[in-house]
Amino acid sequence: MPLSEVQSQAHAVDALSSALGKKQVHHAWLFHGPDGVGKELAAMGFAQALVCLDEPYVGCGTCAACTRVVRRNHPDVTWVMPEAEQVERGLAGRSDFTNTPSRDIRIDQVRALQERLAFRALEAPHKVALFVTAHAMNQPAQNALLKTLEEPPRDTVLILISSAPDKLLPTIRSRCAKAAFGPLPLEFIANKVKTSSKKGVEDGLARQIAAMAAGSMARALALDPKALEQRRETIEAFEKLTPNDASGWIALAEVMGEDRGTAEAGIDVLQIWFRDVALAQVGAENLVNADLAPLAMAATSRVSPAGLQRRAGLLEEAKNAITQRNGSTRLQLERMFIEMFTA
Ligand SMILES: [Zn+2]
Repeated sequence: MPLSEVQSQAHAVDALSSALGKKQVHHAWLFHGPDGVGKELAAMGFAQALVCLDEPYVGCGTCAACTRVVRRNHPDVTWVMPEAEQVERGLAGRSDFTNTPSRDIRIDQVRALQERLAFRALEAPHKVALFVTAHAMNQPAQNALLKTLEEPPRDTVLILISSAPDKLLPTIRSRCAKAAFGPLPLEFIANKVKTSSKKGVEDGLARQIAAMAAGSMARALALDPKALEQRRETIEAFEKLTPNDASGWIALAEVMGEDRGTAEAGIDVLQIWFRDVALAQVGAENLVNADLAPLAMAATSRVSPAGLQRRAGLLEEAKNAITQRNGSTRLQLERMFIEMFTA
């Protein structure tokens, strides 16, 4: 997909098109913004513009070079991502790696890239490297990459894609031109949810899914009606919890903490729910969980604004611990509920 077809990201697309239009493309770019809003799509379009021979600095989207960018087999376009990401995307098998596939981008991957970049481009006017989840680069890898950023090989463009750019060294960030991607508009996501569903999703449900996805197309398309039902169950179970009811906390922690996936999904649901309750506390009406508005109203009498803020903080802590894989998800959730209800 050429850059011009990337939708609802005018700010980033304009910055990139303007650089291409001047035929003066900075050697390193940081594409930053939430997950699932089109950063990688735009990076592909940008790469096409840099390697397309039919429409140089624009990208036709259909020639052999452009097509090979999308198929990931253009010889002058290198993709760098963690091994685990390659496995999750079906680009590699678990057996391709001798050890457990790494979640980091490691120094040997950066070195291999540097070796490739030392040669001239094979077919295209530019060599392009795309770092997917660039923040997954560990410290040695980041330090190694810094050399390339300081003394870039000619005709090379590096694209660092990241939803957590603060995990990159300040010295890396400062050497990159920035393209900022924002959350996608609700209507845009709702439409896409409707058109991409084979079973047909009605307007109300499409909007509900879009609202819950908080601007991320990837999240919206991953949500299904079953997940919405799960959301309702999680919220209702949470609102039944009371102080001094340890068995209730433990039971919910057990259900939510079945695995990392259920824990993260449950925490996301509660995060949005707490925001809804906070909105209800000030009399606002546009809740994400619109169908549970009466429950949100009832919840406002059970927790003060300060108490709600404290709960949101505890939720954030648990989320960080779980995404960083610090111990058992169930125990993290249990501890969180205990702290929430024994203030
Ligand atoms: Zn082309």
